[in-house]
This record gives sequence, structure tokens and C-alpha cells, in this order.
Amino acid sequence: MAPDDPTSAASPADPHEDLSPATLAVVAGRPARAQQAPVNPPLVLSSTYVSQGVPAPGELLYARQGTETWRAFEEALGRLERSRHPALVVGSGMAAVAAALALVPPGGRVVLPRHAYQVTLVLARELAERGVLEVELVDVADTDAVLAAVRGDGRPAAMLWVESPTNPMLEVADLPALVAGAHEVGALVAVDNTFSTPLGQRPLTLGADVVVHSVTKFLAGHSDVVLGALLADDDALHARLHAHRTTHGSIAGPFEVWLALRGLRTLALRVSRAQASAALLAARLAEHPAVAEVRHPSLPGDPGHERAGRLMDGYGAVLGVRPHGGESAADAVVAGLRLWVPATSLGGVESTIERRRRFATESATVPTDLLRLSVGIEDVEDLWRDLDGALRAAVR
Ligand SMILES: *Cc1c(COP(=O)(O)O)cnc(C)c1O
Repeated sequence: MAPDDPTSAASPADPHEDLSPATLAVVAGRPARAQQAPVNPPLVLSSTYVSQGVPAPGELLYARQGTETWRAFEEALGRLERSRHPALVVGSGMAAVAAALALVPPGGRVVLPRHAYQVTLVLARELAERGVLEVELVDVADTDAVLAAVRGDGRPAAMLWVESPTNPMLEVADLPALVAGAHEVGALVAVDNTFSTPLGQRPLTLGADVVVHSVTKFLAGHSDVVLGALLADDDALHARLHAHRTTHGSIAGPFEVWLALRGLRTLALRVSRAQASAALLAARLAEHPAVAEVRHPSLPGDPGHERAGRLMDGYGAVLGVRPHGGESAADAVVAGLRLWVPATSLGGVESTIERRRRFATESATVPTDLLRLSVGIEDVEDLWRDLDGALRAAVR
């Protein structure tokens, strides 16, 4: 890096002391400053690189192992998560989840939130059915229960999986207490940081071993790519995850990664706007005559409020809403909206809504009438008018 590159200001020995996340999202992963150098990393479409003789470590060789387009994004996300290593970009969030679960030794027990991302639970159950690992589900907000499950009566878990806030119930975990307790008995801690983003919390700085992202959501932010990423501070863990990507071939296309880095540049702007709108909508919905319950950690009465205020920067941009009138009323709300997009996924610039139990695989403890709202960056008054109108029409 050139000497005047602001991203080289931090001492490499101390990656946790650095520029603010909002700044890093803009400046990290740029080409070195030199006369006529491009400001953005080039999108390189090449499956192989000119190479002869014994390749030096880290040398670009073949595009399943690494590409310069990946490296720019990986550098930026690594800096944002305050990792000692660059992130490892993979083909989807689920590819990242699968790579992290592959760290569990044969027959090892994994403790997961009962309201983790539903496909994570589907995969964990499938691995359990094949005898690859054992699965135990917990309420991740109940720290004592989680740590009791991790200790497991003298037979400790191999891995604690944490999502906080959870998808879609928005439960908030006491991450520092869980990391400390799990490490006491030698369990690895993997954190799916998709909902919070590195702007909200940086689990590696709390001692977590692995961080997983669905880059598809807030990081890329425009609902135009499916992508995932993994991070680890430990050299050996990072090398194992890198090797897993290379041997399993769960790689990302260069164009998707280039788009994800473009999206990442505006992460702080998008997330701060979406979070502010989410908190305002949550407060208004909590007073709405058609609404039975609202879940958002910003609400003073929310079970996760105190913890999120203490542990996270911001309360996130996803809400849970249960209208009066049950499942059919919830479906009518979705059908009555004109601005909010009825769609799965979250974290895009456009606001989306869905009733989660429309999926047979969603946890049975998620209420059938729960609507998950992902707040985008539209004008909040436009979002409110649309929502208020659909609620009043659906619930009479
Ligand atoms: C969407 C999501 C995933 C899966 O990511 P994909 O990119 O869809 O494969 C994993 N975890 C959470 C919390 C998610 O929201």
C-alpha cells in the first residue's frame, strides 16, 4: 500500500484499533494509490493466471483459489469485522454456514438458537440425521440455558452457533457471556452476523472464532446478488476455511463480488437510515389499533432492548409484527400493500415483508401470524402510510 493510504494507518499488529467502520466501508479494499491507478478494483474475468514454476504462497494461480476481485472485497470486509485476516467470500450465505459447520469434528454436538435462520437449521438437522453431528436447540436469549447446553453434563459441545438478533424473532444474545462460557469448555463459537452487520457488532473482537455472513442481505444491499462470507482470526481456522472453499468449490463469481463491494461502500448510510426508519415504524406500530405485538429491540419494552443497547451499535432494520386477526389478517396485510414488496430476503434498499410461517420449514415456535418486515431506505412517511392503510383495511 502507498504510504498515504488511509487504510494503512493502523499498525498491522493491532487490527482491532482502526478507522471507524463507516470510514472503512468506503476506503478499505481500494487499489494502492499511484498515478493513473484506478480508484476501484478492476473486475477481472479470468479463470487462470500466467504462472510457471513453483507458485509463491498467496500467488494468484487459478480462480477457484482466489482472484484479485475477491481480494478487494475480502480486504474490506476483513477490516470492517476487525479481523486479523481478510474475509473469505463464498457463493452464498448457506455456503458460508456449511463451511463453518464443517469445522465440527465427526459426531460433535452443536448448540444452535431454535430461531436461527431456517435453512441453517434444515442443514444442521440433515447433518444430524446422517450422524455427522448432533444438534441441540436453545433459546439464545437465555444465557444460563445456552451455557448449560454447551457444558452438557461433562460432555461439552463442539460448537456454539449464535445468531443475534435472531431471524425472524429478533431475540438478542449476551454475546460476550456466551463466548466466555463456551470457551471455558473448549467449544468453538460461530456467529452469524448477517442481521447486525459489522456496524452493529464485531464478534471477533469479543473472541468469537468464526463469523458468517449472508452478503446477499445488508452488506451487498441491493437485492441483486447471492453471496456469503466467512471470517476467522485464528491462522489454522482461517486456513481450514480457505481449504474448504477450494476443495468444495463453493465459490463466488467475480461480478457478484464486484457488485457486493460497490454495495458495501454505502453500508453505513443505508443501515443508519434503515435503522432509524425501523425504530420510528416500530414505535408507531406499537400504538396501532390493528397490531397485537411488535418486536424490535429499539422498543423500551422489548425483551432484547437493554441488551442490544449495551452490546450493539443500533437496533437493526428488521421488525416482527403480529396483526390482530391471526394468519389470514397477516396475509391480507401483505396483499394490501403497494409500496412494501412481498418477498423473502432482507437488507435491500427496498422495504420487503413476508409472513414467515408460509414456509413449512420455519420453526414451529414462530407465531403463524408473524410478519417480518425489512425496512429499506425509502421515505419513512411513505412507508408508514402504506403500512397503516394495509393494516386498517385488513383488520376491521
Ligand atoms: C439469508 C440468510 C442466510 C443464508 O444466506 P444466503 O445468502 O441466502 O445463502 C443465513 N443467515 C441469515 C441470518 C440469513 O438471513
